[in-house]
Amino acid sequence: MSPQTTHQHYRDVNSASSSPTSQRLRQLTKQHFVAELSQCLFDFVIQLLPTQEELAVKEDVRKLLERLIRTIEPDSRLLSFGSTANGFSLRNSDMDLCCLIDSEERLAASDLVTMLGDLLERETKFHVKPLPHARIPIVKLSLDPSPGLPLGIACDIGFENRLALENTRLLMCYAMIDPTRVRTMVLFLKVWSKRRKINSPYKGTLSSYGYVLLVIYFLVHVKNPPVLPNLQQMPPLRPIPKEETHMGGHNTWFFDDIDLLRQRWHSENSETVAELLIDFFRYFSRDFVYNGGVASIRAGLLKKESKGWQNEVSASRYDARERNRLCIEDPFETDYNVARCVTKDGLYTIRGEFMRASRVLATRPERAILALADLCDERKDEDLVTAPLFYAPSRQVPPQTPYSVGSRYMNQDPHYRVNKYLFARRRNIWLQNEVSGLVRHLLKHLPQTIHYMRVNWGWGWS
Ligand code: ATP
Ligand code: MG
Repeated sequence: MSPQTTHQHYRDVNSASSSPTSQRLRQLTKQHFVAELSQCLFDFVIQLLPTQEELAVKEDVRKLLERLIRTIEPDSRLLSFGSTANGFSLRNSDMDLCCLIDSEERLAASDLVTMLGDLLERETKFHVKPLPHARIPIVKLSLDPSPGLPLGIACDIGFENRLALENTRLLMCYAMIDPTRVRTMVLFLKVWSKRRKINSPYKGTLSSYGYVLLVIYFLVHVKNPPVLPNLQQMPPLRPIPKEETHMGGHNTWFFDDIDLLRQRWHSENSETVAELLIDFFRYFSRDFVYNGGVASIRAGLLKKESKGWQNEVSASRYDARERNRLCIEDPFETDYNVARCVTKDGLYTIRGEFMRASRVLATRPERAILALADLCDERKDEDLVTAPLFYAPSRQVPPQTPYSVGSRYMNQDPHYRVNKYLFARRRNIWLQNEVSGLVRHLLKHLPQTIHYMRVNWGWGWS
């Protein structure tokens, strides 16, 4: 073939691949993939919801603990918050309990923790760990497995944490507005973040609460048209005195009449849960401004400077414990960064995982279930990925990403230019490992995964 013919052939092939027919085909494949992925996501999270039996046992445990606490503080109530109360609970989630004491004369939280710890140790089979001197004094409890709770139970009891009860109610209201899309997305992200080992504030990554806030921020402020309204900015139906909308100096007002809201407000966004998820991963991989941005479900994207949360690059450039790498404003305690425990390596790992997820979804395998299995493939390494030292934190973009190549931010960064070669090499090695790991994984686990899903989830395969 002469060079001219080769060139012509190349042009023919290229123009054929972008012809209206092939574009239409690609579009159809994409539509098919997202439709199938939405169904898979939905079926997947349903399998992971707590059973009625588990919920009943947990309620019995709450009542038992309440009875015992009342022997110390007769005017107390023990209330659930967190996932047990907001609709984002997975099978075997921990129980977050808050003790409220409706009397002026009450014991100090640290004394209560000590006394309650002693009492529970004497009267119950719980393993008890009182933490009276923690920043927020709590009693930690755990129970060994039993027929009703094959994996046991873990529970924290805190005191007078009224803001936590309110933010639980706020999240529950968001879940109720569009349960199919919001709950599916949140529950999936919780499973995904646990399987990928990036859901542990003690190790420098983000709590479930933080991930839920990211999802709501995305659905209220990033998606256009929005999937959810901003409940904290909706005006009340009648004037409400300040005492009723404020708690300890924090404005806790939000529109909570969800039945009425559902009659009056409808989202114009009709994207499927899979489309939203794909966009969520893309947004937090490459578009969110980690350097200077604060995700606020109350007020949208804020600047770190406006809150005094900018990280001090010169003072603690390589300090892995540095605060405010990732900034998520608490909906009511607006001077509190929910992601303050996320370290430099933690953020680097989390972003790497967002990017990995984006890549997995972009490959659009023939069966959406394969993408799902790959997304939630358990990360074997318990440790965080170490962020390279040569990144200036303000320009930090992990190497494991197709998006970072030649990106606007990177090209402006002198550290990037100096280390361009090293950077490209690391990325290539990482990509090679990823691809061969993926192929190995699929070859090794595919038959078992298909068999498991057929047998346990009754999935029909043609
Ligand atoms: P899981 O099912 O994984 O336990 P969850 O929905 O219960 O998830 P948690 O992260 O356990 O979420 O948080 C439970 C509650 O604790 C939240 O509703 C919030 O009130 C409070 N909380 C958790 N993490 C933080 C944090 N970093 N800052 C402030 N409050 C938090
Ligand atoms: Mg919890």
